[in-house]
Amino acid sequence: MKSDRRGSHDADEALVEKKKLHENTSCWAKTPRISVRHFRNLPSQTCGILVIGSGISGALMAERLCDGKRDVMMVDRREPVRGSSLDSTAMIQHEIDVPLHVLARKIGEDKAMRAWWRSRDAVRSLVDLVDDLGIVCSMRAKNTLYLSGDELGPRSLGTEARIRQKAGIDASFLDRAATQSEFGIDRPASIVSKDSASANPAQLTAGLIRGAQSRGLRVVSPVEITDVLPVDGRVACATADGQLIIARHVIFCSGYEFLKRLQSPRHSIISTWAIAAKPRSAVPEWLPDFLVWEASDPYLYLRMATDVSVIAGGEDEEDPHAFDDPAKLAARTDRIVAKVEDLIGVKLYPPHSRWAAPFGSTDTGLPFIGAVPGLENVHAVMGFGGNGITFSRIAAEIVAAAITGGKDPDADLFRFPA
Ligand SMILES: Cc1cc2nc3c(=O)[nH]c(=O)nc-3n(C[C@H](O)[C@H](O)[C@H](O)COP(=O)(O)OP(=O)(O)OC[C@H]3O[C@@H](n4cnc5c(N)ncnc54)[C@H](O)[C@@H]3O)c2cc1C
Repeated sequence: MKSDRRGSHDADEALVEKKKLHENTSCWAKTPRISVRHFRNLPSQTCGILVIGSGISGALMAERLCDGKRDVMMVDRREPVRGSSLDSTAMIQHEIDVPLHVLARKIGEDKAMRAWWRSRDAVRSLVDLVDDLGIVCSMRAKNTLYLSGDELGPRSLGTEARIRQKAGIDASFLDRAATQSEFGIDRPASIVSKDSASANPAQLTAGLIRGAQSRGLRVVSPVEITDVLPVDGRVACATADGQLIIARHVIFCSGYEFLKRLQSPRHSIISTWAIAAKPRSAVPEWLPDFLVWEASDPYLYLRMATDVSVIAGGEDEEDPHAFDDPAKLAARTDRIVAKVEDLIGVKLYPPHSRWAAPFGSTDTGLPFIGAVPGLENVHAVMGFGGNGITFSRIAAEIVAAAITGGKDPDADLFRFPA
């Protein structure tokens, strides 16, 4: 397809960046129920809505849109559920990476509170959705323990707890003595809150896709979209093998391989590392009910999976290619193990999974979601940050509303800069 001024990009520029998405496989890769049946060739070259990407963003989007009447097709250049969603540690948090009092300074208190409320409501509705659909993915509601660190000390954590309470978001401030007595952790302060969750992200994604398939979704893989061009109220998408797909709406749920025209200094791709390891002795009694993270840079986060492994991650580095270095994989994951052991006072067996991946972050911690500027009927989801899964849920609600003629009251918080 030739680009013109209405078209997607200059002729010499690819539509999306093709990336390596992981070094080593995550602990979810060998779990059951992570595959979905799919067409190997396009069953049709037209559809009502084309969803590009079969990760958690595409899955939640398709689940929301498929009502048995709409003609929705999902394509992926990889096997379904084999992108970044397979690497996620799946701490499904309402707490946004950028604390509420910091976000309030950046975008105003009213908008910051709306973003936090929306995030809390998204976690609640995702837990309910999984329950309603009966998806077996170890979804479990959890509390969070947010520990003070070198980025936020006890005073800032106190400010954070107060603004969350003012917003009506559950948060209890614990000083050093209370953090020690309730959790056995020696830190100057912490915040405990409800309304988060965890799951097996691959089973969650596959379960959502299967649910959408039962309501008409067609999944096709491998299909790589290489160009997109709005034509007369429809969108023509070119594929790498020279075919065309014509859709009324196109939604890029393409993860960290996002549309090049959406590149912006407001977001960046970094590298991150994660492990899954069995504890050598009993973990603290409270740990299975909590997600733990800290206000430090580099930071550590951890949780338990239902197979009693400790899942932990962090050690983020700004270099987007650092994850691809096997020496760094060994060193960073060893450091994560040491930090976990030090924090919870339990020795771990050598990790049964160690993996590394690119990871996205934004200046506000908020995702970019909505209509792609300059491309009519083309929408995109960039659910960056440690809340990627929560943001994917919000994205499904916002984009589905836009496509079905509704208006989401929070769409302004997340839209792409013009
Ligand atoms: C190590 C790690 C830990 C994380 N931990 C958490 C966490 O604890 N909690 C949390 O909420 N989030 C976490 N995240 C973030 C979260 O996992 C991501 O936000 C989420 O998985 C992104 O989902 P996605 O569907 O947008 O992308 P993906 O899962 O990558 O899916 C996108 C799909 O689009 C396909 N695609 C791309 N371009 C094209 C094209 N041109 N044509 C066809 N197909 C295409 C890709 O092949 C891919 O399968 C973590 C991420 C990493 C890497």
